Amino acid sequence: MKSISRIDISRSLKISRPTTTAYISELIEDGLIKEVGKSDSTSSGGKRAVLLQFNSRAGYIIGAMIGVKSIRIALTDLSSNIIDMVKIPTEEWLGPNSVIDKLFKNIKKIIEKHKVGKEIIGIGIGATGLIDSKEGLVIFSPNLTGWQNIKLKDIIEKEISLPVFIENECRVRAIAEKKYGLAKNISNFVSFVVGIGVGTGVFINDNLVVGKKGMAGEVGHIITNLAGNRRCHCGNIGCLETLCSTNSLLEDVKIDIKKSGKSADYNISKLEIEDLYKLYKNGDRIVTKNVEKNAEYVGIGISNTIKMFNPELVIIHGAVIRFGENYLEKIKESVSRNTFPRVKENYNIKFSEMGENVGIVGAVSIVFDNIFNIDNSDNFNRYFIKKIVS
Ligand SMILES: [Zn+2]
Repeated sequence: MKSISRIDISRSLKISRPTTTAYISELIEDGLIKEVGKSDSTSSGGKRAVLLQFNSRAGYIIGAMIGVKSIRIALTDLSSNIIDMVKIPTEEWLGPNSVIDKLFKNIKKIIEKHKVGKEIIGIGIGATGLIDSKEGLVIFSPNLTGWQNIKLKDIIEKEISLPVFIENECRVRAIAEKKYGLAKNISNFVSFVVGIGVGTGVFINDNLVVGKKGMAGEVGHIITNLAGNRRCHCGNIGCLETLCSTNSLLEDVKIDIKKSGKSADYNISKLEIEDLYKLYKNGDRIVTKNVEKNAEYVGIGISNTIKMFNPELVIIHGAVIRFGENYLEKIKESVSRNTFPRVKENYNIKFSEMGENVGIVGAVSIVFDNIFNIDNSDNFNRYFIKKIVS
């Protein structure tokens, strides 16, 4: 982790050295900053400065991701380093009460296991669907049974008296990329997620695009195929998600296998998306044809997103990235085919490099950014100083 001297802080923030020293003393007292040795001696023979570092272990954060298949719950330090994590099946068909109950139980379990109850500054949750993060409300989650107008923030805060922040799954991924990943130094980018759902997290001029009620970026539900006959979980027909989600891909593969009369060879009743990665790498004809068709539609979705937002970078997330570099090339070809020349020269498309915990990292970042927000010192005072002092 980076360290910095008091004098460098005073220079970069343009505040006087005595004021800097006073603030730093307070932060050291609160345990948020620690002294970590001295700088190398200066060429002019000046005094070696004491170096300061943010103390990531001054507190902890709980991060959770509610996905269609699994729920992940992690304990992290204040720099989003994962200390412990559990992954449990969502069993979304049992409805919101069951999913929320699992959340409670496992959050409490992880807190008790590490005996960190007092040091936790908040809980950050990424969830699939339309999320009003200001209200802490899951408006509608097309891929989770029964999730309509669920006041997730209120419910959890009531049960576990800690501040709770919630955000859409695609946006937490984008937040993580902005803070720690490929978009660290990029102002305009899109995280394009292709899993059971399809959606985006968009940053424009370094700001996350949320929309009036948190519904921006629902690219998965852009009507792409008027002649389609597959109904989307959102209720419409012809959504991009019905053409290129992992479920659609699996369904398309199964249709073609049945047509070919080789259902037994593929053990079709047990065929899962995980099996397709291997079949694609082995060059299976049916799977290759459908994965390439999937890449074509993902490319169309990305090209539409590029035309809308003019991002410098598109980062692809989700289960599909396991199809590897050949698949990425097919997506790039499709984007190129479906985008006009001037736009073409101005973007990059890459797979996320943050691994499968990218959502957790983003969810945890929301807690940190809210509690340590200078414009909202109320949060900081309420939830942090109080804890340290008590
Ligand atoms: Zn839809």
